[in-house]
Amino acid sequence: MKVYSGKSVFGGVAIGKICVYKKTEQLVRREKITDVEAELARFEEARERAIEQLKGLYEKALKEVGEVNAAIFDVHQMMLEDEDYNESIRNIVGNQKVNVEYAVAQTSDNFAQMFASMDDDYMRERAADVKDISERLLTVLGENDFEKGMSDGVKGEGREAKEPVIIVADDLAPSETVQLDKDMVLSFVTVHGSLNSHTAILARTMAIPALIGTPLPLDETVDGKLGIVDGVDGTIYVEPDEETLAKMKEKQRGELEKKEMLQTLKGRETVTVDGQKLMLYANIGNIKDLATVMQNDAGGIGLFRSEFIYLESEHYPTEEEQFQIYKQVAETMAGKRVIIRTLDIGADKQCDYFEMEHEENPALGYRAIRICLTRPEVFKTQLRALLRASIYGKIAIMYPMITSMEEIKRIKEIVREVRKELDTEGLRYGEPEQGIMIETPAAALISDELATEVDFFSIGTNDLTQYTLAIDRQNTKLDEFYDAHHPAILKMIRMVVENAHGAGIWAGICGELGADESLTREFLAMGVDELSVSPGSVLPIRKIVLETNVQEYQARLR
Ligand code: PEP
Ligand code: MG
Repeated sequence: MKVYSGKSVFGGVAIGKICVYKKTEQLVRREKITDVEAELARFEEARERAIEQLKGLYEKALKEVGEVNAAIFDVHQMMLEDEDYNESIRNIVGNQKVNVEYAVAQTSDNFAQMFASMDDDYMRERAADVKDISERLLTVLGENDFEKGMSDGVKGEGREAKEPVIIVADDLAPSETVQLDKDMVLSFVTVHGSLNSHTAILARTMAIPALIGTPLPLDETVDGKLGIVDGVDGTIYVEPDEETLAKMKEKQRGELEKKEMLQTLKGRETVTVDGQKLMLYANIGNIKDLATVMQNDAGGIGLFRSEFIYLESEHYPTEEEQFQIYKQVAETMAGKRVIIRTLDIGADKQCDYFEMEHEENPALGYRAIRICLTRPEVFKTQLRALLRASIYGKIAIMYPMITSMEEIKRIKEIVREVRKELDTEGLRYGEPEQGIMIETPAAALISDELATEVDFFSIGTNDLTQYTLAIDRQNTKLDEFYDAHHPAILKMIRMVVENAHGAGIWAGICGELGADESLTREFLAMGVDELSVSPGSVLPIRKIVLETNVQEYQARLR
């Protein structure tokens, strides 16, 4: 038995087969070849396999996400049949006598550039598709598929799931995490990563045991072996001995019992002993998370990270695609508030098709509302979908990374334009509440002014801590300095809540700190109106609220 310790991201105990996740590194070298015929035959074979994979994906997507969303795999098949694309690859192989991988990479660059420079939006988006099909070809050629990097437990493209597994990886980007089949993942363990990264947040949303910063080898001593992840203690056991296995099974049972006990709190109002009500909502990143939201009886959705729709897509999600998702969330939540945050791409959340330039300091860079305000066509597509969907439920729109009144004015102007356009087109839309995230010190400090312009505040403590303490939330080395309980943060939260109430609006917390059970009483005492937490944290927080007497708590502090 080997034992490794890491930092716990989410509690619980997972027992199952370990699957080492290896990243695809599509590093393509130019190699001289002598047998052109054989190289071209490799290309044909890879092309046929890629087309087969896409057919499988189309069928799967058709069943799971409908025809509109499945269509992309059809488009990719057609692109792989495109004679210009194929001829270019064959010509490079034949004329330069080089390996097919190099020819694919060259063709991909040339075609992607050509598409990217076109005027038509639709054609520009095809640049990402060319890259995508080329990567698929390279993957097939190199047998180093993203999913193929996984052992059998994880369902990937064209692969059948056998059993859910514990994923062990060096690190996982949010875009990689969202692509995993969630039913097939028992737990995440990463060597790197930080407690406040979006991958950690996704693990919390999935409510599965997860560890980061766990120094374990990513080789055959781990891959395929039985593992136990103890998310309570931050430990992973590889090939556990009988005694540990028995002990951990017992602990797992205990954890399940605790969960069951919490189930009895379902249906109860979240109100303190002395009658202070709290809106207790859930954070989601995906429509599939709705099941856990319902299971945990959240009073609404306090943060739908809509950028994950973009991260999961291979092209800009269309208005119709987005509309269907927002409508479904609104309808499922049946009149409960659903706060959808507009696109917060950038920093650690990168989408290839946005084609963003490299930045030295992406967390301080071109992200979130800054992209929306400078690329209004992208912003407007989302706003149209949101406004139209808001007639199907209680949708509220929330804008991220706000720093100034000027930004709010510009947002409002764009919203006005979108409404006018919808009017002209005769399309129906609702009047959703509009709020902002308070996640920059600038916004916290001028929250008295901002409060006069919006319907609500939601404090994003993840970024607020990062920007206030000047600590990169992605940097695992800094986790020990990332003090979310820092007096400066608590002072700002208090101030933001006071300023919100002064202007007659409500204020909540949707950053990870909202789920910190050691602060729940403090937040209630500050008058925080809403907490939005990962679905698995809803019932534990409700339990604390039900047991709290705020006035007594405040009297004790005095
Ligand atoms: C935050 O910054 O606290 C927040 C909720 O947004 P995100 O974690 O997605 O940046
Ligand atoms: Mg944030």
